[in-house]
Amino acid sequence: MSEDSSQRPSVVTGTGEALSWRVERLADGRLLVQIKGEINENADFSELSGKLRGDVELELEGITRINSCGVREWVNFVRGLEVSTLWFARCSPTVVVQLNTIYNFRGRARVVSFLAPYVCEVCHIDEYKLLDVEEHFATSRSHPSVPAFRCPRCGGVMMFDELPERYLSFLSEEGA
Ligand SMILES: [Zn+2]
Repeated sequence: MSEDSSQRPSVVTGTGEALSWRVERLADGRLLVQIKGEINENADFSELSGKLRGDVELELEGITRINSCGVREWVNFVRGLEVSTLWFARCSPTVVVQLNTIYNFRGRARVVSFLAPYVCEVCHIDEYKLLDVEEHFATSRSHPSVPAFRCPRCGGVMMFDELPERYLSFLSEEGA
């Protein structure tokens, strides 16, 4: 990736879904940043990076796809942040895959919550459920057990639709 400083658009359009973000200051002073779209070789976080100071929560539910060039852009972005505290919240399944496979994807961030796939094998309903790290995995990060959810249609137990030891492996690195 070249360090082209001539253009710093906050919305990048490419062949995929546009990458965009929205920064909001919360009442407690934290900055909430919602990042959406696809992270690829066109991703340029330099403008966003310059805005972020203090306690920052990145909400990553809207990240749909990340390719290998995008991973590099992301890792550089996170590494270069001059913030006091960094949280990743509502991580999309795409982000979870990266957390599990790419060393440094989170940088110094703490993961507070993420989406996980569940399925009802009777009704064939699949849904993403938001799992909270503190609430669901406070005592079991190295051997996490997945929380159970009820199927909204039949009331039966929905199954975790991934291998838990693989999908949740990033939890064992929390705070390491
Ligand atoms: Zn069901």
